[in-house]
Amino acid sequence: MCDLWRYTLDESTRVGDLPAQIRHGLCVQPSASPPSWIKLYNASNFFDPKAVPVEDLPSIADLCRSFQRVIVENHPKLLHRNILEFRDRLAGRLEIAMGLETIEPVSFQLLRKEFEWSDFEHANAKLADWDVDRRVFVMLQPPGTNPSESVDWVLKTLRFAEQCGVRHASIIPTRGGNGMMEQLQRDGMYVPPQLWQLELCIEESLTQMKSMLVTVDLWDTQRVLGSCERCVAVRTKRLLEMNLTQTISPPLRWECPCPRGPS
Ligand SMILES: [Zn+2]
Repeated sequence: MCDLWRYTLDESTRVGDLPAQIRHGLCVQPSASPPSWIKLYNASNFFDPKAVPVEDLPSIADLCRSFQRVIVENHPKLLHRNILEFRDRLAGRLEIAMGLETIEPVSFQLLRKEFEWSDFEHANAKLADWDVDRRVFVMLQPPGTNPSESVDWVLKTLRFAEQCGVRHASIIPTRGGNGMMEQLQRDGMYVPPQLWQLELCIEESLTQMKSMLVTVDLWDTQRVLGSCERCVAVRTKRLLEMNLTQTISPPLRWECPCPRGPS
């Protein structure tokens, strides 16, 4: 539901493929201002041996030695000891991103995350103990969430994540396109979120969160409903500005009929 399903494989990843891909990716990076952080998102769980062969973990860690922070995604119940070995082989800090998505009970059930909120709490405690930072994905208006309450549920989910000691939360507007979402939409279970809701989420989060960084996912913002070609560029720029500064940017004025709030 966050679009990553498009890139999953039907079979296990072959040994050697991922180091080769990372090596290639690092080669094509501009050398003038190399990034200091790297995200290795594999559309699956990094510490699932079918997705990332255990044999490849040392060479992946070695390829990331120039980075100050290495971010991978993983399921809260996959707390293998090889997390520690991978962490120890890195020069920088390890950060694990987890898809909490929502604590709205109906949506959480529908998403079939195969963990309980207590597992998320446990994973955070364990990873904190292992000196591993945590990042979380939170969905705006997943199936099952009442659109009039969806911003509130994002904020409740963020508060829960913050209480668990998460360092950074990324808010993702729920996207369609995989067929299942369209079916849920026809069944009245899913209403695509609008851009004003995403704007409200980040404004409220920046006001309410005390210790956790909060950003909104700007991938394909032009596909989020409630924007048009006259407003989407400036509104996206403002969201990016808030992502980077972690302060609320002044509201914008623009001339178009796109909704600015609940109708
Ligand atoms: Zn517009």
